[in-house]
Amino acid sequence: MRIYKNFINNDWVGAISGKTFPVDNPATEEVFAEVSRSGTRDIDAAVVAAGSAFNGWRLTDPGSRREILKEIAKKTVEHGDEVAKLITQECGKPFVEAQDEIDVIASNFEYYAELGRDQIGRIVAPTSSRSMSLVKYEPYGVVGCIIPWNFPMALMAWKVAPALAAGNTVVLKPSEVTPVSILKWAEMTCDSLPSGVLNIVNGYGKEAGSPLVEHPDVPVVAFTGSIATGTIISQLAAKNLKKVSLELGGKDPVIICADCDIEVAAKGAAWGGFMNAGQVCTSVERVYVFDEVADSFTEALVEEAKKVNIGDPMDANTDMGPMASSVQYEKAHEKVGLAVEQGARLLTGGGRPEVFDKGYFYAPTVFDNMTAEMELMNEEAFSPVVPIQKVKSLEEAIEFSNATKYGLGCSIYTKDIELAMTAADDIKAGSFWINNPLSENNAAPFGGMKMSGQGRELGIEGLDEFREPKHILIDYRQEKKDWWFPYGSDGE
Ligand code: NAD
Repeated sequence: MRIYKNFINNDWVGAISGKTFPVDNPATEEVFAEVSRSGTRDIDAAVVAAGSAFNGWRLTDPGSRREILKEIAKKTVEHGDEVAKLITQECGKPFVEAQDEIDVIASNFEYYAELGRDQIGRIVAPTSSRSMSLVKYEPYGVVGCIIPWNFPMALMAWKVAPALAAGNTVVLKPSEVTPVSILKWAEMTCDSLPSGVLNIVNGYGKEAGSPLVEHPDVPVVAFTGSIATGTIISQLAAKNLKKVSLELGGKDPVIICADCDIEVAAKGAAWGGFMNAGQVCTSVERVYVFDEVADSFTEALVEEAKKVNIGDPMDANTDMGPMASSVQYEKAHEKVGLAVEQGARLLTGGGRPEVFDKGYFYAPTVFDNMTAEMELMNEEAFSPVVPIQKVKSLEEAIEFSNATKYGLGCSIYTKDIELAMTAADDIKAGSFWINNPLSENNAAPFGGMKMSGQGRELGIEGLDEFREPKHILIDYRQEKKDWWFPYGSDGE
């Protein structure tokens, strides 16, 4: 069995303790790799490497940085299938979705390669003649990145590409559930980076993640994960007043209006709810359907759920693989049990399909008879479970949509522009999709409002998370100014 090590200073090194942890395949439950189990001393070594590389990378001209990042994008495509196979092996998502992640990484590195070269500041109107005020955006230094397992590669790229493009160096801690694809990717693509610019340290959250967040030489922490961990990270970082960006959980509503095309809405809700076994931060977590179309929509969604092809994620015909881990499976099952206890009506799914005797497979699950106070309408399920609640009007749908602590994304299906744009204006969410759920754009910001996060990824906003402005005032003439001492007339 292969042992994967940490990547520090462009070298592969084991954890100082010599320890490793296992990574399993959620479709077979078999352990297929061991990975270095790191702690504080490994993080220290990586931060020293990144700190030493910072000045060289910061002063590398943006054109050369662009070439290096584009080279990474090119190699990512060349080795895409090999890395995608590992994503599927450790995360359980269908190979086609893993290939899509490869495209996301490549296009993201391409995008930030160009954006980082494009501009590093602006000139603002000066306050006196014969002078100039420059605003220059500078990198912070060593950026600590901590990511989850549901999109192990894409979420890496969304942080690492802009951080590097802005001139920072990086220490990355992947999720302990899915570290292997990232390590393979680094092996295949990162030889064009100068030594120490990107470092990858593996391990568990408390053992390896916390020391990275607390490290005095890491001024910025970029995190994606749960609200619970985001809160801990925010508290740890506050001790040193670090800048933190947080991409956290969601409970995305989908509003099904009376005028919508039911077939399209049901297919969209099924894809949005069951893609990656529902383990998407912006997946369909709750449906508010107008009374008039509730029965027809519910029936159509149940039909779609039953059609989802569950199986070996490497099979090209598979729509949905297993959940990523036994922990996720257990959490999902517990929430489904609670929903039944609270009076929700289970229409399909609700457990492991009988054909599987191993693997963390969970059948696409649909509930109706939901009411606003039930836990499944309020807390993230992060599983292939879609609960449906009826609403009387758009006003009611907006009120319920805004009633949780989350504010990540929201979708609506309607042909009525007034309904769509009123909801877009009035619902607190970082992304709002009209008739086209879960669609990202490299050039548009992504992130959460309320407790779903702070800061944004993607777009120019995603680059700005990793650079800070400096005002430089240039006075063309070296002469005493009227407003200096002495203030009194005696000094004249
Ligand atoms: P998690 O919070 O358990 O773990 C995320 C990462 O944090 C892992 O690398 C983990 O090792 C690390 N970690 C855990 N405890 C830590 C600690 N005390 N100090 C430092 N690091 C620590 O989340 P998860 O289960 O991996 O991911 C699922 C969550 O991520 C869901 O809530 C989902 O909505 C969210 N998510 C959000 C987005 C977004 O962009 N908003 C995207 C994907 C996933």
